[in-house]
Amino acid sequence: MVAHKNVSLEGGLNFDLGKEKELLRQNIRAFVERECPREYVRELDEREEYPERIWQKLAEYGFLQLPVPESYGGIGGDIVDLAIVTEELARRSGAIALTFWMSACFGAMTLNLVGTEEQKRRYLPLLAEGKIKFAISLTEPDGGTDVAGAMKTRAVEDGDGYVITGQKVWTTAAHVSDYLIVFARTNENVAKRVDGISAFLVDRRTPGITLRKLEKIGIRATPSFEVFYDQVRVPRENLLGERDKGLYQLFGMLNEERILTAAMCVGEAQGAFEDALAYAKQRHAFGKPIGQFQAIQHKLSWMYTKLELARLITYKAAWLQSQGRDCALEANMAKLVAANFGFEIADMGMQILGGYCYSREYDMQRYWRDVRLHRVGPISDEMVLNFIGERLGLPRSY
Ligand SMILES: Cc1cc2nc3c(=O)[nH]c(=O)nc-3n(C[C@H](O)[C@H](O)[C@H](O)COP(=O)(O)OP(=O)(O)OC[C@H]3O[C@@H](n4cnc5c(N)ncnc54)[C@H](O)[C@@H]3O)c2cc1C
Repeated sequence: MVAHKNVSLEGGLNFDLGKEKELLRQNIRAFVERECPREYVRELDEREEYPERIWQKLAEYGFLQLPVPESYGGIGGDIVDLAIVTEELARRSGAIALTFWMSACFGAMTLNLVGTEEQKRRYLPLLAEGKIKFAISLTEPDGGTDVAGAMKTRAVEDGDGYVITGQKVWTTAAHVSDYLIVFARTNENVAKRVDGISAFLVDRRTPGITLRKLEKIGIRATPSFEVFYDQVRVPRENLLGERDKGLYQLFGMLNEERILTAAMCVGEAQGAFEDALAYAKQRHAFGKPIGQFQAIQHKLSWMYTKLELARLITYKAAWLQSQGRDCALEANMAKLVAANFGFEIADMGMQILGGYCYSREYDMQRYWRDVRLHRVGPISDEMVLNFIGERLGLPRSY
């Protein structure tokens, strides 16, 4: 074959994860089978109970070391590693996956990106050991999309620190978190509303903080809370990053956030697909397994195909990010595709289960409830589409 002898692929296309990452996938999959039995995960959801035992096991097995750099007691995994762990956890439980990525990954990323050396030394080793947890307290009752425009929470300088007053909503796992990463306005005199907001690391036990649990339909084992901040004193050294630049710091982590959200959706969709396939093989109607009916088979074929597409774009985005290449478009598309296909897959799974889709004794309804979140949070479909539109050279629509 001489036709292409001068063409060099320079490594070319390669969809293999590689030995180390395959091993990581096997390890986390085995972990889930051993430590997160289905019945236990179902009970956590029913009782809205935070998976503390599993968090501790994740630490014990070293998975919480992945987001933390080696110099601070971690392993320093890349975003592909984090996506693999998130996906495999979500395959069993969105709530467990969410606590991994929100507390461990987001906590570590924030500190890595903007923390002072002192903050990194103090908190990152504890995070890697599972001894502390973080929650993100950004969204306010008046708006999560236009978060800068809606932000009423204020942090006022006072002596050797700041005093925070305001209210947040949807702060997930606030009740078990040691630190809340709170965003508050520190400057009113700004040209743009995204300016003048700062991030603080707030000890959850500080006087003036009260929580009210929200009644939500999915991801129930990691409850979400309204958090009220009434004159909460925060020492100056707990400012995270540069004052007045808090939202820009957050923007610096958006690709990771989109990618890990997409990985969660892929995992939830995988769980739903596997349950639907098994059900189609064993459930009979008219003397045949229902999987023999074309209507059911076609659904399963679509589910599998959409799952593969969602996984491909998710890992493409993760790989680009791990190579330090621009992946904003891919990360957003991955989140869009994985959230929408994920929900469609779970919805087809519901149909395949017939009446049993409505039974809480089957996990399908849990996957369906859980994956629906990601069409609105942490960012909505509409805002992702706005972003893609702008990248196509179209004018900003808002
Ligand atoms: C279960 C759950 C857990 C969460 N966990 C956390 C957490 O831990 N920490 C945290 O800070 N927040 C958290 N959130 C909040 C989440 O990030 C917000 O709900 C989300 O950003 C949407 O904000 P909103 O609910 O205020 O909707 P809105 O901002 O009120 O939006 C309402 C609708 O208007 C659309 N819209 C708004 N602006 C535009 C526009 N310019 N163009 C087109 N459409 C637009 C939106 O897409 C949406 O469909 C959580 C939410 C949920 C449901």
